[in-house]
Amino acid sequence: MHQYPPVIYELINKLAELPTIGPKTAERIVFMMLKKNHDDIATLGNNLIDLSRKIKRCSECYNFSETNPCHICKNKHRNQSMLCIVSEPQDLVAIERTGHFDGRYFVLNGTISTYHGTKPEDIRIPELVKYIKKNNHITEIILALDPNVEGETTAMYLIKHLSSLNKKISRLAKGLPVGADVEYADEVTLSAALDNRKEIS
Ligand SMILES: [Zn+2]
Repeated sequence: MHQYPPVIYELINKLAELPTIGPKTAERIVFMMLKKNHDDIATLGNNLIDLSRKIKRCSECYNFSETNPCHICKNKHRNQSMLCIVSEPQDLVAIERTGHFDGRYFVLNGTISTYHGTKPEDIRIPELVKYIKKNNHITEIILALDPNVEGETTAMYLIKHLSSLNKKISRLAKGLPVGADVEYADEVTLSAALDNRKEIS
């Protein structure tokens, strides 16, 4: 790859650092881009610059947003008594897409995983506890975590550690196929899982 001009070589290396993209795919992407016109390449470059400059984490729910607080946390017409806990911002988007939930969210930014060495303090659980204590109008906490080992471990930890806060805790119904992520569940399945959520405590 050293025979490429430095600009091409550097971009291939940068793209190859992204998950699921190896050096071969990165090479293919760069050469596909070179076949596009200059405006398209410049737009893509500007989109990436905007991504790094304009997108920030909402300081309330930790969703990605151009504003802080985000449009969901800012919206006082949403149901302030329900809090849905998700592991990633994409899960929040999937639930919003169903139009079946009008409460608020909290994004953990991961799940507890003994395999990956992710501990509760690595995924904003201390911030979550603080958030729930601060917002005492919350009456129900819905755990919308993926039906896999990490999602299960995180749910068990949360149920144990949030029970002292005296809130109703529920989980998405078992409608999601095992191993399927909340993010990829279709809207009908996800809506049904929300409607039929199971109360834990
Ligand atoms: Zn927010």
